[in-house]
Amino acid sequence: MKAAVVKEFGAPLVIEERPDPEPGPGQVRIRLEASGLCHTDIHAAHGDWPVKPVPPFVPGHEGVGIVEKLGEGVTHLSVGERVAVPWLGSACGRCEHCLSGWETLCGSQVNTGYGCDGGYAEKMLARADFAQAVPDGVSALDAAPLTCAGVTTYKALKVAGVGPAQLVAISGVGGLGHLAVQYAKIAGATVAAIDVTDDKLELARELGADIVIDARTQDVAAELKRHGGAHAALALAVNPAAFAAVNSGLRRGGKLVMVALPAHGTLEIPIFDTVLNGTSVIGSIVGTRQDLDEVFRLHAAGRTRVVHETRPLTAVNEAVDEVLRGEVKARIVFDLGTGG
Ligand SMILES: [Zn+2]
Ligand SMILES: [Zn+2]
Repeated sequence: MKAAVVKEFGAPLVIEERPDPEPGPGQVRIRLEASGLCHTDIHAAHGDWPVKPVPPFVPGHEGVGIVEKLGEGVTHLSVGERVAVPWLGSACGRCEHCLSGWETLCGSQVNTGYGCDGGYAEKMLARADFAQAVPDGVSALDAAPLTCAGVTTYKALKVAGVGPAQLVAISGVGGLGHLAVQYAKIAGATVAAIDVTDDKLELARELGADIVIDARTQDVAAELKRHGGAHAALALAVNPAAFAAVNSGLRRGGKLVMVALPAHGTLEIPIFDTVLNGTSVIGSIVGTRQDLDEVFRLHAAGRTRVVHETRPLTAVNEAVDEVLRGEVKARIVFDLGTGG
């Protein structure tokens, strides 16, 4: 099988031929159909973060495919079933976080495409308990971006407690933001989408954004305040200045949910304003298996639209460059054999 491998941080990925991996106890082998490119994969390949993966490794945590072989003891999945393999590759199931519905905070978690090989390959292994069944009617190409971009923004809105009659700011309309706009609309909120390209602002409008703010020419905080200030703001753009802008655009009691991970980002929080205005700053990381199940069910019910562009896996390095240049409208998905 072919896999795109990070041999060295910052170097182009290498497509290499590897033997099919054998599933151990509790694992399944998946023949991948589609695999999304998340910005986190680029950070992994560049070794950008304090906790680094160990090369050589295969990135990718939006892998979707067909179960091809069951490891010992796997009874709830069957060969031929379509599953998705998210960032949360496994968690301990016993700690305070796992037991309280916060498995995404488990200190013993293994992350797909980071702590173990991921989905930039024709085949991969996954822990069967964390491979999420994809419902009928959800294509592999749609399921891939939902597996990280979808569940991450869906969870961030849950964390913010977004409801109807609230103004929600979505900062950054890309792979994550285009889904965030839709989930915020499903929650009944009024949505202000912020970006710096005409394409993405137009996409946000198409997907239901009520207000669009062009951060190149408009003062984001002032625009949000003009509408009363945001009850919640999702910081999805990989740019610390964008975090600060939406934080300043919160209304009293508002919540900033930090999602994007700039490589060396810090945010200065004004103590006086934060105390007097009773605002919150919250970090939100991906979502649980339950969250992903809900995301898939919403899509199966026709309530969300995934915008993606496909590429062959052999174009992985060009695809990374496109993302870094900000040229991709929403999400790149590697087509590994969907037949189109
Ligand atoms: Zn991701
Ligand atoms: Zn745990």
